[in-house]
Amino acid sequence: MGLLSGRKTVYVDSDVLVIGGGMAGCGATYEARYWGRDLNIVCVEKANIERSGAVAQGLYAINCYMGMQWDENQPEDHVRYARNDLMGLVREDLGYDIARHVDSSVHKFEEWGLPIMRDPETGQYQREGKWQIMIHGESYKPIVAEAARKAASKVYNRIMVTHLLMDKTKANRVAGAVGFNVRTGDFYVFRAPAVIVAAGGASHIFKPRSVGEGMGRTWYAPWSSASAYALPILAGAKMTQMENRIVLTRFKDGYGPVGAYFLHLKTYTENAYGDEYESNWYENTKELVGDYIDRHPVPTCLRNHAILEELKAGRGPIRMVTKEAFQDPHKETIGWENFLGMTIGQAVVWASQNIDPKHTNPELTTSEPYVMGSHATCSGAWASGPEDYAPSEYQWGYNRMMTVDGLFGAGDTIGGTAHKFSSGSFAEGRIAAKAAVNYVKDLGKERPQVSEAEYKNLEKVVFRPMENYEVGRNEIVAGTVSPSYILPLQGLQRLEKIMDEYVGGISSHYTTNEPLLTRGLELLEMLKQDLNHLGAEDLHQLQRSWELQHRLLASESVTHHTMFRTETRWPGYYYRGDHPKLDDNDWHCFTLSQYDRDSGSWEMEKAPVYHIVD
Ligand SMILES: Cc1cc2nc3c(=O)[nH]c(=O)nc-3n(C[C@H](O)[C@H](O)[C@H](O)COP(=O)(O)OP(=O)(O)OC[C@H]3O[C@@H](n4cnc5c(N)ncnc54)[C@H](O)[C@@H]3O)c2cc1C
Repeated sequence: MGLLSGRKTVYVDSDVLVIGGGMAGCGATYEARYWGRDLNIVCVEKANIERSGAVAQGLYAINCYMGMQWDENQPEDHVRYARNDLMGLVREDLGYDIARHVDSSVHKFEEWGLPIMRDPETGQYQREGKWQIMIHGESYKPIVAEAARKAASKVYNRIMVTHLLMDKTKANRVAGAVGFNVRTGDFYVFRAPAVIVAAGGASHIFKPRSVGEGMGRTWYAPWSSASAYALPILAGAKMTQMENRIVLTRFKDGYGPVGAYFLHLKTYTENAYGDEYESNWYENTKELVGDYIDRHPVPTCLRNHAILEELKAGRGPIRMVTKEAFQDPHKETIGWENFLGMTIGQAVVWASQNIDPKHTNPELTTSEPYVMGSHATCSGAWASGPEDYAPSEYQWGYNRMMTVDGLFGAGDTIGGTAHKFSSGSFAEGRIAAKAAVNYVKDLGKERPQVSEAEYKNLEKVVFRPMENYEVGRNEIVAGTVSPSYILPLQGLQRLEKIMDEYVGGISSHYTTNEPLLTRGLELLEMLKQDLNHLGAEDLHQLQRSWELQHRLLASESVTHHTMFRTETRWPGYYYRGDHPKLDDNDWHCFTLSQYDRDSGSWEMEKAPVYHIVD
């Protein structure tokens, strides 16, 4: 039986549809049940929520916890911190909303069985830094997933959502989504008045440092494939800050995190000659960004900047000085456990390269850029804010609703709110779900209507790569080379190369300019045309095909945003060579884009930044 001939279409009706069962999706599913006891709550996930998303492998720290019960921090403090780190530009209403709710989510995790380390003297959670608390987090994701599983009417694992469905009776209103089961090939039509997109961020947009022998080894999860952006973009939702890609300083080759090393082990960095180098770049950085370099803590991007300049000056590699800290057996244990809880690969890389941090100071490097909305970066959808706190210009509907009616988002999906991390993403999922339930209840008996013609047409579009392969495979001239289709991997590598060379990736020291971006857009357009000829030999490759399509759309958005913002706001994340300085007069604002799927055009605009917290 051919895969195509045996395909079924499965219809699923729900009141609230959650797309992506990662941290935000699990939070949304859990909370939707609390407010919507009698509602039909469905979560759809392309992997299995037990171990999916960026937290799949576990974490060693929860990076967003106020500690209000011990008067450690207040929500306003976190807004100030995130604002400073993002060089002045965050949605303070959304950030405040998460900060005021995040602690209760962390308390839930503990109640559900997550072991949180405690300070033996005070009994309070063990702090790694001002915002981070330490956990034994290997099973963090299964613990959170269990709560979502118990709350959901049904969780559909192994279904990749490819498109949202729109209401045929009312323009600009969502009506559901379609996707396919990556194991059986069945086509799914989900009908729902409220849809919450929680599909994570995007890796493999830019060419990674590890290619060939190490392909797939990236800092961010390789399966985070930009659906969180492509789905709303295609539905016409406005996006914000898509230029604000993130670059991470990490241990070389294994991308092992450095947070616990800096904060808990108190290790520090030096150049190849054993010298402190950050102060050398103080004047240079001040020249570019003014007094942002004097802020405490120094914004993440500016710390990258000093490393990049030192490397360009020929004094690399930069090393983390671990030899001193690792003489203390307690710190040595923490140093290794830090990786064993979430990045085992780094321990393996060190073992394979004869690096014992007790005797050798390991190298650091800067990663390729990623697009996400929950780390030290804030790309994502433009969302309505909380009723009691958002300025009127940031409110057009329900909390966390995008500019499309009934379409909500949380976690990496929502823009303008950096530093939510795992706990904040879960909390934001809860916030979005509460609003989505209110939206559904306010609709009463009225329901959006799904157009049969729309989903029938999408079915053809979704499975086209398999047909292309079926038809074209007889023409293969050699190995995998075919005149009539391209494979998803070939398309992905072409995308990464374009983004790397034209939009500010590693090979150009993260630097771009208007002519490069213009050419980059032309090349992306050509790639887009060629992707009509993607060929998928099986369902796995079909999934890769749609991941690539989603990455391409997100990349286009990143490129348009980067072109629009004619300044360098975040040196260390990327540089506009033609506008090398921060420009607070013209660009102390958000950038917004809107895609028109009929014409394929993008519209850009500015939106004001309101400082609500002193
Ligand atoms: C390397 C790394 C280290 C981190 N370290 C920490 C840390 O130490 N502490 C901390 O608190 N936070 C940390 N974070 C941040 C935290 O992991 C994220 O903030 C959080 O996972 C974001 O939640 P999310 O739900 O938006 O995305 P995710 O948790 O990634 O979930 C997205 C989900 O959507 C699914 N999905 C994607 N596309 C589709 C589709 N088309 N159809 C159906 N399902 C889809 C995915 O499979 C996934 O399950 C780290 C993140 C990374 C990448």
